[in-house]
Amino acid sequence: MASERAQNPVIDTHDLTELLRQQPLPAPFKLAIYSTESGKSGLWEAIQAVCRPTPGRPPCGEQCFHSWREMVGQTLKNKSPVVRTCPKGFIGFALPFPDHQGLPECLIGGGIRDKNHPSATPPVKPQNLPDPLVVRSHDKHRDSKGQTAQGVPQLSLEEAEIVVKRLYQTLPRLLETKLSSKNLDRTTRYLDAVSEISRDLAKCSDIEQALNVINQAFTILFDLPKILILLKSSPKSISIHTTLGVAKETCQIDEAQLVQYLSEHGTEPQTLIGESLSLLFPKLNAKSACLIPMAESARKIGAVVLLDVILHKRDLALIGLLVGRLAARLERLMLDKRHEQDHEHSNRMVSMISALSLVDNRDHLFNQILEMSVDLIKTSNGSLMLFNETEGTLKIVAARGMHDTIARCMLVQFGEGIAGRVAKSGFPMLVNDIERDSRTATRNRPRFRAKSFISLPLKIEDRLIGVLNLADKLDGSNFNKRDLDVIQHFTKHAVLMVDRVTALEQARQFEKLSITDPLTGLYNRRFLESRLQEEISRCQRQNQKFCLVLADLDNFKLFNDICGHLAGDMALCKTAKLMSKTARDMDVVTRYGGEEFCLILPGTGKKEAVLVGERIRRAIEFETFPGETHLPLGRLTISLGVAAFSEDGQTSAELIHAADLALYRAKDQGRNRLVTYDPSFASEMPLQVENSDYINR
Ligand code: GH3
Ligand code: MG
Ligand code: MG
Repeated sequence: MASERAQNPVIDTHDLTELLRQQPLPAPFKLAIYSTESGKSGLWEAIQAVCRPTPGRPPCGEQCFHSWREMVGQTLKNKSPVVRTCPKGFIGFALPFPDHQGLPECLIGGGIRDKNHPSATPPVKPQNLPDPLVVRSHDKHRDSKGQTAQGVPQLSLEEAEIVVKRLYQTLPRLLETKLSSKNLDRTTRYLDAVSEISRDLAKCSDIEQALNVINQAFTILFDLPKILILLKSSPKSISIHTTLGVAKETCQIDEAQLVQYLSEHGTEPQTLIGESLSLLFPKLNAKSACLIPMAESARKIGAVVLLDVILHKRDLALIGLLVGRLAARLERLMLDKRHEQDHEHSNRMVSMISALSLVDNRDHLFNQILEMSVDLIKTSNGSLMLFNETEGTLKIVAARGMHDTIARCMLVQFGEGIAGRVAKSGFPMLVNDIERDSRTATRNRPRFRAKSFISLPLKIEDRLIGVLNLADKLDGSNFNKRDLDVIQHFTKHAVLMVDRVTALEQARQFEKLSITDPLTGLYNRRFLESRLQEEISRCQRQNQKFCLVLADLDNFKLFNDICGHLAGDMALCKTAKLMSKTARDMDVVTRYGGEEFCLILPGTGKKEAVLVGERIRRAIEFETFPGETHLPLGRLTISLGVAAFSEDGQTSAELIHAADLALYRAKDQGRNRLVTYDPSFASEMPLQVENSDYINR
């Protein structure tokens, strides 16, 4: 790539202009300096500074420009001054600077009317016009305020030639004696300022503050017109952090080229022009750039780019010094920030993992793992896929930034697509640009904003659990190695919870099976035992009531005999459903055994229990059961016995016995009815102590 070492002048043009301005020159010429390297525009600018026949109006145009160019060419060629009167009657001159390294090539002067020219007006009164031989020259930027064409100072061409000759002769001595002391003076002031700024930089506590200090130094101290500050966020990515004096939209960079450029070049400032400039900054509207790498211990952390400026060698050195200080401070601050982030990340990870350890169902766990990953890396898009080993597929079980139903329909084959390949390889994929990365090289899908993503396998040791995909960082940046490290660290611990929750769910499933009646799906007698015991203890503690209902299908043996055992099973299932539906939410419905059911009605007195029981009885009576017409009552019915805690029994055995006695009475009275326990029943069939554990009968 074409680039040049910066060729910077050793003479400060500001110093030179200031020096000339301060000199008592022998005529009120306006002065400007010019070097051929500043090109046509430089000459045009110089002409405008000296030659303004009519204040506030532009010079005469192309013809005037050509005449000046010719004069400058002549003076440079002959190495002697040239003085002439232009067709409009103005005297202009060009004289070469002494041949000294760093000095500009020539001095031009103008703004004085030729008093012998036909267009000349009578001379301005002496009191209005300072003595031409002692008047100070005007700054090239300063206008001759208030002077009309008539007010322009006048000399004859001969007088002007004498003045210019004298100026030409005194120039070398002037430059030799005064310029260097001026230079020293300015250098001392700059050095003081630079050390002051360095101290300020050292005090900055964040990156923005440090960049602000440096930007102020660049713009105020060195009067730099356009500045770009580029910072690297990872070894392969660099972006524009700050622009000053340049519209941000024109500051597109070729990231890869810039990263390569910085790695191939040392830490010295580089001048970029033409092709080398447009290669790195494709849309930039600038003629030249001075690129100063920001390096700390030879590690490039970014660059400062100064546009359209020719810097004095001393200034470039001082700016380089400041950039070095800035780099050291930024490196320190970035390191601090990283440590702070690491600390914050590890704290967050600990609290996330401990929150995950409280999750007890898989769906919730998958959602939580995805939410936490998205939160850790700050992305807006993500999905968690679960591996099904038997089918060889990956299925989305949690998604962010995608419709949940659509996500759950997506099935990825093991080994296919990005996630499938990540699953198969067992290695994570960190991609900056999905379209350009050789591993992916596919068009970015419209639902993703950015082309960068992370896809990583979730494994417990060597066992593949699934794949986690993350895309679209909230700040629009690319994913980096650090993001991958953080997410790998987190998922390594998080996936362990998958096994834990799976084991928990299985245990819950087993437990459910052990307390569930397989035919009807109701709780079984084992569950009733513990639930009844719990209810008694609770009611004893809180002095509350509850009722127990025993229900038994009438003539069910006969129903079985007539309709068959299968129809009997179906009738039992139907009865179970009716009971669950008719009972209240708080009631506990269990299959007690055979065609018998037992209900616990918490917080319920006898009166209310009768209502609930009656509702159940009627529901069964009016339900149609195939084959029931052959039964003695023409319908499948149920009989119920109700006992209340604590008046009818204080232990589970006593209560069940009481309810059983009531049920017996209901059967005895002709079935299809509900009977509440009465203490008189006990005398007919007292509770046998040796046979007291009814629950275990
Ligand atoms: P009662 O009105 O006096 O209760 O007469 P019952 O015929 O219902 O009483 P019994 O105790 O004589 O008969 C209960 C019958 O319930 C015996 C058995 O055939 C039937 N049974 C028990 N468990 C099941 C089951 O799981 N499936 C089926 N199909 N029948 C069952
Ligand atoms: Mg029975
Ligand atoms: Mg029965």
